[in-house]
Amino acid sequence: MMKTVLSKAAGYWILASAFLTTAPLRGQTEGPIALVLHGGAGAVSPEALADGGEKAYRDALGTALDAGYAVLEAGGAALDAVEAAIRILEDSPLFNAGKGAVFTSDGETEMDASIMEGAGRRAGAVGGVTVVKNPIAAARAVMEITPHVLLMGAGADAFARESGLEIVSREYFKTERRREQWRKAKGFAPEVRPQEDKPQARLDFPSVDYLGTVGAVALDREGNIAAGTSTGGLTNKRFGRIGDSPIIGAGTFADNRSCGVSCTGHGEYFIRYAVAHDVAARMTYLGESVAQATRTVVQETLVEAGGRGGLIALDAQGAVSAEFNTPSMFRAWIDGEGQRVIAIRKAGDDQ
Ligand code: ASP
Repeated sequence: MMKTVLSKAAGYWILASAFLTTAPLRGQTEGPIALVLHGGAGAVSPEALADGGEKAYRDALGTALDAGYAVLEAGGAALDAVEAAIRILEDSPLFNAGKGAVFTSDGETEMDASIMEGAGRRAGAVGGVTVVKNPIAAARAVMEITPHVLLMGAGADAFARESGLEIVSREYFKTERRREQWRKAKGFAPEVRPQEDKPQARLDFPSVDYLGTVGAVALDREGNIAAGTSTGGLTNKRFGRIGDSPIIGAGTFADNRSCGVSCTGHGEYFIRYAVAHDVAARMTYLGESVAQATRTVVQETLVEAGGRGGLIALDAQGAVSAEFNTPSMFRAWIDGEGQRVIAIRKAGDDQ
């Protein structure tokens, strides 16, 4: 009897020590983790990348990537990783989100942001906010505190204030570089009326240096996917205009069964073609991979429609995709196999 007890105890000890030596920390027992970011699609001028400019963009993307990835490595939630990475990009004046947002037609800044988690398809968004320092945090608060998905304008700003989020003056967001871009854009007359052969008026915005929207998509150890997007919109947009970034299914989407997506580009097209959801739908209904679905939507659907831009996406295995039909897209990722990439121009040009 004694012998049985002892051998059982020894057996447990062997089992326990095997567990103790191999069991990783909390949250690290499950599947792969991955994080992908974008800092906007468009055409970046050589001047913007000269004199240390390229290094500054790469460093900012790398800092945001590492901060978000550290959350995932520590067993944290995809939602937290997305918010952590986007906050850093919003705080950087280099990107068109938070500080450094582009100017509207009346010379102000109005920002849009959204966030979604793929386990329960919860989502939150804000449109046209003007004083909340980190619009992505306001989007998350809408998701977590209110029964709504999208708050806009004065109501969204008031909500951010009441929720205790950091509030700043409107001047905080404005940079000289964006003011200069706006001055140039004001001399550019967009085509504003529909013509017979065009069902919708087009805004042929100048493409050089008009990129900078930010987004992130993450996969955590638990298999949860989250996605978020934050932007100042398009330079010289009509005040009150809201783009795709705060529209769930257009600029942002996440569903654990397929993928997470964050978009950037000419938002009106992304709304009309429900781009983020279209990627997920192709995966769900056609069984396409994340690479196939993103390529088709960006290089075929959007190109045929005339919509310029790109998107980032990842699936539940940590496969990452960054697809764009513009000359450049700031992007960075660490995929499910641990490969780390920071890139600006077309694939292969600068990885
Ligand atoms: N998609 C954003 C918008 O239309 C702009 C961008 O991504 O550059 O508001």
